Amino acid sequence: MFQSIEEAGVNDLHFKYDEASGLKAIVAIHSTRRGPALGGCRIIPYASTDEAVTDAIRLAKGMSYKAALAGLDLGGGKSVIMEPSEPYDREKLFKAFGGFIEELGGRYITAMDSGSRVSDMDTIATQTRHVSCTSISGNPAPSTALGVYKGILATLKANKNLGNSLKGMAVAVQGLGNVGFALCQLLHSDGARLLVTDIDEKKIEQCVADFGATAVSSNEIYSVPCDIFSPCGLGGVLDPDHISQLQCSAIAGSANNQLLTPECGQQLFDRDIMYAPDYLINSGGLIFVAMNHMKQGQVEIDRRIDAIEDTLLQVFRHQQQRKAPSSLIADHMAEVLLYGDEHRRLSA
Ligand code: NAD
Repeated sequence: MFQSIEEAGVNDLHFKYDEASGLKAIVAIHSTRRGPALGGCRIIPYASTDEAVTDAIRLAKGMSYKAALAGLDLGGGKSVIMEPSEPYDREKLFKAFGGFIEELGGRYITAMDSGSRVSDMDTIATQTRHVSCTSISGNPAPSTALGVYKGILATLKANKNLGNSLKGMAVAVQGLGNVGFALCQLLHSDGARLLVTDIDEKKIEQCVADFGATAVSSNEIYSVPCDIFSPCGLGGVLDPDHISQLQCSAIAGSANNQLLTPECGQQLFDRDIMYAPDYLINSGGLIFVAMNHMKQGQVEIDRRIDAIEDTLLQVFRHQQQRKAPSSLIADHMAEVLLYGDEHRRLSA
């Protein structure tokens, strides 16, 4: 276990078992160098403790990178609850989890993630103040969509194959949920031509009716000719097979962990497809959650979401200068922010 901790550079790993509620939870704190570690609580049925630990470690590291590039004074952490296989009392479970978070004394702030709900965050809030995404905080998805929209504008500025306005530009959006639908709305109001898909037919119909979008099947979305492909559904969609089918100039979407493996970033670079690193372009939601937790207002949230455009332009500039994939450039920029000049020297 220490090997995986060392490889991911995780600071600490906390385990909690509570017999009364059946809680089995893990908190991974990757870094608190820039501030308390903020990251969601995932509750899913894990096949083994090892699988849960690996997930927590991997996700915590990603949160550190995301917070650093978003310019937030926060570190990265993540928690996982191994969902009991037998029926369980959800409120009791999340109360016990809230007690666990309180014991960590503010080193880790929890939030919503796969499987957890606003009502769970409200339950946690009865035990600790180190929780966000409660019913009084609001939905981060519109901020995520706004950040992706700003990222798309940066992509237009940086890519000479694309025009300088969204008017008439073809954007293929995969996944029309909370973020994807809000993004379509923003793109439509700028005159973009939308090609959309979802596994839920009703969501496609809504986009066709509201934005004059063209419906595309789930398989076709990878090969449909377009200017920008925007993955806003699942992670891992940029795999070697899908990348070889793409007929776009750029990729800019909200989904987490879009690249199946780090090598897929190189494959996109080799195909001359500009890729907006996922954890940078989708950081609007984290900005919203963090700023709400710090009791900052909408002006500050908007200012920081606007900054996604500049940071992304910086990534693309370095990509051109160093002839390296944007995914590696973004990692490096985050690492310099996290580890300072020591890292700059080591990786020079
Ligand atoms: P959501 O669950 O509301 O929407 C996801 C949509 O994708 C759903 O409509 C679903 O039917 C669709 N989908 C699933 N599988 C698909 C497939 N194979 N093909 C096409 N469509 C498919 O989620 P969301 O909140 O809109 O988030 C979308 C993505 O952005 C996720 O990857 C999420 O992790 C990431 N993200 C979201 C936020 C946020 O603020 N909500 C922040 C950062 C990152």
